[in-house]
Amino acid sequence: MSVSERRSITGRTLPARPTRLAGSGTVGAGTTSYRDPVDLTLLETTLRERGEPAYRGGQVWEWTARGAAGYEAMTNLPGDLRDELAASVPFSSLTVETERESRDGTVKTLFRTADGHPVEAVLMRYRDGRRSLCLSSQSGCPLTCTFCATGAMAFGRNLTASEILDQALHFRRLTEVDHAVFMGMGEPMLNLDEVLAATLRLPDLGITNRRTTVSTVGWLPGLKRFVDEVDTPLRLALSLHAPDDELRSRIMPVNERYPLADVLAECRRHVAGTNRRVFVEYVMLAHVNDSPEQGRALARLLGRDEFKVNLIPYNPTGMYDGSSRERIAAFKAQLDRARVPATVRLTRGRDIEAACGQLAAAPRSPRGRTAARA
Ligand code: SAH
Repeated sequence: MSVSERRSITGRTLPARPTRLAGSGTVGAGTTSYRDPVDLTLLETTLRERGEPAYRGGQVWEWTARGAAGYEAMTNLPGDLRDELAASVPFSSLTVETERESRDGTVKTLFRTADGHPVEAVLMRYRDGRRSLCLSSQSGCPLTCTFCATGAMAFGRNLTASEILDQALHFRRLTEVDHAVFMGMGEPMLNLDEVLAATLRLPDLGITNRRTTVSTVGWLPGLKRFVDEVDTPLRLALSLHAPDDELRSRIMPVNERYPLADVLAECRRHVAGTNRRVFVEYVMLAHVNDSPEQGRALARLLGRDEFKVNLIPYNPTGMYDGSSRERIAAFKAQLDRARVPATVRLTRGRDIEAACGQLAAAPRSPRGRTAARA
């Protein structure tokens, strides 16, 4: 897709691939043990070919990370350089296809990669002022958790670090942001290098690694690497959803491959190494995983000291019925009694299918579509 086509889709100058800078060592997080997220740095090449000083790349990234709308806003760059960048280096690796805002202020955006894959991400605004991003690590997801809408759509591919960061940068242009969760489309542990490369740059947008959570089904090869290699204070979340292998395998086929005991052992290793609890996500499915006995089994499985449970009201995807408030409360009471920390997650953005498990991009719309908002 040419630059001019990109422009016609969004109706404005489309911003660049800021993360083409990543790994360059010239800006942001500095050197990293993770693989360089992007192949060729188009921006850097362009700057170098023009004979620009080395600090230019850093200037562009600083503006971008602080929410600049495009090169034209970068007033400490010479005007002719701004024009040339606008003409030759796209400002984002993603185009906005549609954007919807929920009554509660949640915004869900459907993006397209340059090669046509759908990607969704969500901005959540809370009363206390917190602004949290729910980011995708893949287009679609190859795992087929039975309650999750993303698992039912076709898997596209892993996203690059640029494509992950460009989701965040899009929302940064709307508002200040301070938290991120990798709980959008995809399994981050299947795309760990790109996810980690993106997390190294999120602090420049205002999202520290302490306020960034990577959520996994328990994909063991990636999880082991996460525990062994990550030396930043990223938080870990495990999508558990069942207190025993039999049930878990039924609702999450990945459990056949990587059973509970092995996954929990890795999580405990993470706690031992970081001294920080692992979040456990547990979606409440009526009469499937929500009985008081299952609550007690969950408490026994986790113990008091290493995990914090988030009970998630089921967001309708057509597959199950969600647990009633009463059943969720009775389940939580079992955890409370066993002194296992537990909270019930607030549901956001359900009216626009932006809630947990509801991200599943609509089929590709015909050519000539227009973006709702960029
Ligand atoms: N693949 C990773 C990252 C996606 S996180 C993971 O599964 O952890 C998405 C979160 O939403 C997971 O905890 C998932 O189990 C949960 N979820 C999926 N479908 C849901 C639904 N219909 N209602 C509520 N939560 C759901």
